[in-house]
Amino acid sequence: MCARRVLRALLALLALLSAAACGKEGSPPTKGPAVDKLPHYQVDRGFSLPDSPTWRRAAKRGYFVVGVKEDQPYLGEKDPARGTYAGFDIEIAKMMSASLGLPPDRIRFRTIASANRETALQNGQIDYYVGTYTINDNRKKLVGFAGPYYMAGQSLLVRKDENDIHGPEDLAGKRVCSATGSTPYQRIKADYPKAVLVSYDTYSACVDNLLTYQVDAVTTDDAILIGYAAKVPDELKVVGRPFSEEPYGIGVPRGDNALRFALDDALAAREKDGDWKKAYDATLGLSGVPAPRPPAIDRYPAS
Ligand code: GLU
Repeated sequence: MCARRVLRALLALLALLSAAACGKEGSPPTKGPAVDKLPHYQVDRGFSLPDSPTWRRAAKRGYFVVGVKEDQPYLGEKDPARGTYAGFDIEIAKMMSASLGLPPDRIRFRTIASANRETALQNGQIDYYVGTYTINDNRKKLVGFAGPYYMAGQSLLVRKDENDIHGPEDLAGKRVCSATGSTPYQRIKADYPKAVLVSYDTYSACVDNLLTYQVDAVTTDDAILIGYAAKVPDELKVVGRPFSEEPYGIGVPRGDNALRFALDDALAAREKDGDWKKAYDATLGLSGVPAPRPPAIDRYPAS
């Protein structure tokens, strides 16, 4: 690799890192949601859900503990200077807390990587999880899902100077990075076995590897990749069409059907009263994709 290319890659990486880290007091992450534009969610003070052990525990302590991502622009991103989280998933978490009777500003957010979500819910480390979490039958054996509240699709992120990769069929012999335990990782492994798969705990680690020429592509949901491309638009681009459906659900402990149904009801109400759209417009909508219609809620029977 020539010196110029190395320098370019390092500068891009630096741009990405400083975009994430320059949150000096009061300033949101680059191009992130403006705090004063975020909706306020009415707290349902009289709410009670005695049939849910998760809710009872949270009500006793006075706040929810919610699992999220911290490195996904527009979705779930932590401001390292202030320790606060922002993004569409964070807003969903807040409106759910308000609907379940607890003030959203008291939520304790915990960063949980893709591979650790099921265990975190099973161990009671978190009350619910909102972080680009695809609902599927395998996962339903381990956890419960309210929603979906958004429909994403698997896509590909490459460097701007990449001309050979347009879709998953072009990945043969290419180094492709995704997060351990994620559905995009599993899909490449099963359906595109000629790709050389590399995995890390987070997609931001994959993006660092892409910028420094360690991998040729990063694959995960389009909603996530658009955020990384927006941070360094001169270096990265999303290519091709989405090649899967990734319905995002709110993860709950399996068997806590009361909590799951209450969250389904809360989502339906927030979609109807306009809060869902306001939250989208103030966060993920900043990526330039107008608000879609939220997908139909899949209120599957008690399990
Ligand atoms: N939605 C996919 C999944 O749940 C990819 C994003 C993620 O890893 O959070 O696996």
